[in-house]
Amino acid sequence: MLHFLHDCGTAPATKTTEGHHFRRVALQRRILDAHGERPRLGPLYGRLMARAAELGLFRGERRTARRPPMDVSSGRGFVFVSHTGEVHPSGFLPVSAGNVRGRPLTEIYRDSALFTPLRDPSLLRGSCGACEFKAVCGGSRSRAYGFTGDVLESDPYCAYEPGSFPYRDELRSLTESTRCRPPGAPYGA
Ligand code: SF4
Repeated sequence: MLHFLHDCGTAPATKTTEGHHFRRVALQRRILDAHGERPRLGPLYGRLMARAAELGLFRGERRTARRPPMDVSSGRGFVFVSHTGEVHPSGFLPVSAGNVRGRPLTEIYRDSALFTPLRDPSLLRGSCGACEFKAVCGGSRSRAYGFTGDVLESDPYCAYEPGSFPYRDELRSLTESTRCRPPGAPYGA
């Protein structure tokens, strides 16, 4: 599905919500493209591409610029404030770090015990913790919490096997150049 979104991402431009591994797919495709390689894709990809072509999504006049995946995640470039003032790392992550009626939003975002670890990929556990894409992907913290009760556990919906991508050095340099800030650096500080 994510490879399909990537390949039809110019007709129209696509974005994902809670689809953090789309950033992994975009990086993998960029490196594979440079090597003239294609990933191995299953029958769902073929069906989706055929249907998109039937709908005319790939006609030249409908092409737009590809939208790069945004480097934001729960508590990392994103904050959700409920109608009662509770501050959550995401609208999908029902854990509060405080209330704006008792503490400024900027303080909660920058310094709370819930938000600061979410910006440090070295604290991730399980597959996400072992993954070479964790600094740019990191998985859905909401799904990890929903399945395990731990915001730092693995994203259970990711099919990637850490360490299986072959072009490690290129990935490392691309990962460094595509990040907006060093791992763990607070936003707006
Ligand atoms: S294992 Fe985690 S960090 Fe790695 S690609 Fe999957 S969701 Fe992202």
